[in-house]
Amino acid sequence: MSKSKLEYIWLDGYKPTQSLRSKTKIVDDFSGKLEDCPEWSFDGSSTEQAEGGSSDCLLKPVFICPDPAVTNGYLVMTEVLNADSTAHESNGRATIDDEDDDFWFGFEQEYFLWDTTTNRPLGFPEGGFPAPQGPYYCGVGGQNVFGRDIKDEHLDLCLEAGLNVEGTNGEVAAGQWEFQIFAKGAASAGDQIWVGRYLLERLVEKYGLAINWHPKPLGDLDWNGSGMHANFSNTLIRTAGSQAKIEEVCEAFRSVVDEHIAVYGADNDQRLTGQHETAAITDFSYGVSDRGASIRIPVYTANNGWSGYLEDRRPASNADPYKVAARIIKTVKTVS
Ligand code: ADP
Ligand code: MN
Ligand code: MN
Ligand code: MN
Repeated sequence: MSKSKLEYIWLDGYKPTQSLRSKTKIVDDFSGKLEDCPEWSFDGSSTEQAEGGSSDCLLKPVFICPDPAVTNGYLVMTEVLNADSTAHESNGRATIDDEDDDFWFGFEQEYFLWDTTTNRPLGFPEGGFPAPQGPYYCGVGGQNVFGRDIKDEHLDLCLEAGLNVEGTNGEVAAGQWEFQIFAKGAASAGDQIWVGRYLLERLVEKYGLAINWHPKPLGDLDWNGSGMHANFSNTLIRTAGSQAKIEEVCEAFRSVVDEHIAVYGADNDQRLTGQHETAAITDFSYGVSDRGASIRIPVYTANNGWSGYLEDRRPASNADPYKVAARIIKTVKTVS
């Protein structure tokens, strides 16, 4: 008999920002298949997902991949259900309306490697600051790069797990990094971003570091915040064929700014200031190649006969990709 270790991962019920939780289940003679992952339960009263008197919540497996760091290990992303098997109110995945996986998403996940003893990004000297922003974005060299070995180790873990990472880069602030994950299907993109976040958080535990997902961890100092740009397309956008059609899609976002911002991450007002390659949170704008716009029309799309994808630049690094995708889908579906 062989024993496998299944790490069940879920999102807790904390507001306004949910965090990752996980626990290990030992299974005999496991096939490695999602359909053979048993449903499981947990104490929802410890995660703000239930009252103590009726505390069981259910974990329904939705995505599985090998755990590259654990012998006989698997990572099992799950969604949280109430005891009666209905979707828990914290379950953003269940709000995605993308039955046929027509929506493709590429999320650009930015984050800071965070030194918990100085409470500063990795690379920030205690009590002071490194040189101003400029040399860090895609930077090279010991004076510009902080934590490349960790970034690369995370990339290897993601690839070994089979996540569809498309790239990584050093970001504008010191100690700030990005990875991109693309999937055909909104739920799959969300699953893979969450598992990618999990692998990153778990990796840095062993270095005594943390990941800071806050959109503006350095407050109003002259340092970039972190986003999670959402690149998206559906058949309509991929085959639009005219500037007018692409702009019609962009315009659909104008009257629902508040609904989008509501799920684009807590404290995003601190980041969307109009500075540091962002649009102000109260504005709505779009434009070709415009990194100061709410929605950027990539030059690829304009040059590809106005067919391709769009980039919503507003989602913050701490946003839930499930909820971001669900909201974008809802808006795009109003256009035909
Ligand atoms: P940026 O120039 O904004 O830093 P990146 O290269 O970091 O861009 O990210 C672009 C993302 O757009 C990638 O994740 C890529 O997979 C995604 N993307 C490309 N084409 C499409 C498409 N047709 N639909 C959705 N996402 C796409
Ligand atoms: Mn990017
Ligand atoms: Mn970036
Ligand atoms: Mn981007």
